[in-house]
Amino acid sequence: MPDSNELQSAARKPIDKEALLARYRAERDKRLRPDGNAQYLELKGQLSHYLDDPYTPFVERAPKTDHVTFAFVGGGFAGLVTGARLKEAGVADVRIVEKGGDFGGTWYWNRYPGAQCDTASMIYMPLLEETGHMPTEKYAHAPEILEQCRRIGRQFDLYGDALFHTEITALTWDGERSRWVIETNRGDRFTADYIGLGTGPLHVPKLPGIPGIESFKGHSFHTSRWDYGYTGGDPSGALMDTLADKRVGIIGTGATSVQAVPHLARAAKELYVFQRTPSSVDVRANAPIDPEWFASIATPGWQQRWLENFTANQAGGTAEEDLVQDGWTDLSRRIRTKIMGLPRDQMTPQNMLAAYEDSDFEKMEEIRARVDAIVEDRETAQKLKAWYRQLCKRPCFHDAYLQAFNTPGVHLIDTDGKGVERITEKGVVVGGVEYELDCIIYASGFEVGTEWTRRAGFDLTGRDGLTLSQAWSEGIKSMHGIHVHGFPNAFFVQPTQGANLISNVPHNLTDSARTISLIVKTALERGAKEVEVTKQAQDDWVALLLTGPGRMMIGSPDCTPGYYNNEGQDPGPAAKLNVGYPAGATAYFKYIEEWRNRGDFEGLEFR
Ligand code: NDP
Repeated sequence: MPDSNELQSAARKPIDKEALLARYRAERDKRLRPDGNAQYLELKGQLSHYLDDPYTPFVERAPKTDHVTFAFVGGGFAGLVTGARLKEAGVADVRIVEKGGDFGGTWYWNRYPGAQCDTASMIYMPLLEETGHMPTEKYAHAPEILEQCRRIGRQFDLYGDALFHTEITALTWDGERSRWVIETNRGDRFTADYIGLGTGPLHVPKLPGIPGIESFKGHSFHTSRWDYGYTGGDPSGALMDTLADKRVGIIGTGATSVQAVPHLARAAKELYVFQRTPSSVDVRANAPIDPEWFASIATPGWQQRWLENFTANQAGGTAEEDLVQDGWTDLSRRIRTKIMGLPRDQMTPQNMLAAYEDSDFEKMEEIRARVDAIVEDRETAQKLKAWYRQLCKRPCFHDAYLQAFNTPGVHLIDTDGKGVERITEKGVVVGGVEYELDCIIYASGFEVGTEWTRRAGFDLTGRDGLTLSQAWSEGIKSMHGIHVHGFPNAFFVQPTQGANLISNVPHNLTDSARTISLIVKTALERGAKEVEVTKQAQDDWVALLLTGPGRMMIGSPDCTPGYYNNEGQDPGPAAKLNVGYPAGATAYFKYIEEWRNRGDFEGLEFR
C-alpha cells in the first residue's frame, strides 16, 4: 500500500485549478435533481418492516403513570452523558426513554460488519476516564462502543428507570404543576420535573425512491438493521459464511458502505456495489492502543485534555501539539499553515478562503492518487475518484475499501450520478442492464432535511400551548443551543447554536451535560420549580450567532448534492441559524465554562 509521502509526491504535480473547478461543477450538475429530499422513501406502511429491531426481543410491560425528576428522550451518547452527570449531581431518578432495545443510540442500531468510529476513540468515546475503560484501538469498532454505552448505563445506574422499545408521542408542559407530561406509544403517561432531548441527527433510516423497490422477491434490509440471521457472521466482523453462495447488491457508497463493503467482498459469492457518487476515502491507519502507552498518558483529567487538544487543532485554535493526529487535524493543519504563510497585509478573508481551497485541492489530488495506486483495474479506479471538495460530503477513511475492488467477484456498478434506474423482482437495473441478486442491502442513509417533527415522531407543547415547531418556524432559536424560551425545564443536547463542533459531536454533548446537571442541581438547591431562558437572553444569543461568518466549508451550495447541503436545494432562510459560536468551538467551550462557573446563570430565570 502506498504511504502518505508517496501519495503526496504523486499528487504534487501543478494543479490546474480552473480545470478542476470545472470538473467539480460538471460532476455536481450531473447529480442535481429537482426532488431533493423528496427522492427518498419514508419507512412507513408497506415499508415499515425495514424498521423492525433485529437485535432485541420486544418485552411487554405495564404503562408508566408515575413521576420522575428528569426524563430524557433518547438513549444514545446525549442521554447517557446527561444521565451520568445528573446522577453525579445527586438526581436519583433519571428516566431515559429509548426506541431501541438498549442504550447506544446510533451504536445500538448500526451493527453492520466493519462499523467503527471515524473520530479517534480517545476523544470520541464518552466518559472513558470516569469508567476506566481503555479503548483497544485508535478507531474502535462498533461492539466496543456499544459496550461503552452499556458500561455508562450500568455504572451510573441508568438501567433501572429506563424505558426501552418506547417512542415518545407527546411532550406537554403542565404550567399549573410546573412539570412535563410525557406520553408514549406504549400507553405511558407519566410526568417529569425536567426533560432533556437528545435524539441525534441521523436516526431515521431512509430508502432510495427507486421505481419498483417493493417488487424485489429476494431478501433485503437497511444497513442499520443488519440481518445476521440471513448473512451469517456477527458485528465483530466474523465471516458472513451464509453469503458464500449468494449474489449480493449494496446500494450506496457513503460512510456506511465504505466500512461494510470489505466484509461483504470477503464473504459473498458475487458483490455488486451500486454507486451514485463516490466517497473520498483517505488513509485510516488504525492501530491497537498500547496499554503501557495508555497508562503513561491516562493521568487525571486526560480525556478533557485530549478533547480540548483535538478541538483546538481542528477548529481554529492554536495548540502546539497534535495529540490525536488524524485526517481531521491534518486538513486543518494544512489550511492553517497556508494561512500563516500569508504576509500580514494579505490576510484578507478572500485570501484565507483561497488558502483553504488550495489545501483542499492538494488533499483531494492525494486522495484521487490513492485510488490509482490501490485499484488495479483502470476503469474502476477512474470511477472511484471523488470530484468535489473534501468537506462537500462526509470524508471517509479506510484501508480496505478501495482494495476490495481488486477482489475477484466484486463489481463496481457506477450509475454516472444518476442512481439506480429500477428494481425488479430479480434484482437491480442500471443503464438498461439487469443484475440478478439474492439480496439487496440498502446503505442509503438517514433522513436529515425532513421536518424535525416527522423525524422525532412528536412535537413539544410548551408554555401557553406554544409548540416547538411554531417557536422554530423561522429556524432554530435558543440560548447556547440548550434552552428555548417558552419551554421551561427543557434542555436540548446537540451541537447547533453552541460549539457546533461537527468533527467530534461527543465533545458538545459531554460539555452540555455538565451545564445541564449544574443548572438542575442549582434549581433543586434553590427550591425553584421552573427554569427558563428569558426572551431577551435568547434574542441576544441568536443575534450574536448571526455576527459570525455563517456555515463555512461543510456542504456549501456549490457542492455535489448530499445531506450536507440539503441535496443541493436552497435550504431556505432558516438554515442561516444552523450555526455555532462566532469565535469557534474552543472559544465557546471556554465561554460556557466561565458562564456556568459564575453561578448566576445569566439569561436564565429561576422561579
Ligand atoms: P449516506 O447518506 O452518506 O449515503 C447514502 C448513499 O446512498 C450515498 O452513497 C447515496 O448516493 C446513495 N444513494 C441514495 N440514493 C441512491 C440511488 N437512488 N441510487 C444509488 N445510490 C443511491 O448514508 P451512510 O449510512 O453511508 O452515512 C450516513 C452518515 O452516518 C455519514 O455521513 C456519517 O455522518 C455517519 N456515519 C458515520 C460513521 C462513522 O463515524 N464511522 C460510519 C457510517 C456512517 P449520493 O452520495 O449520490 O447521494
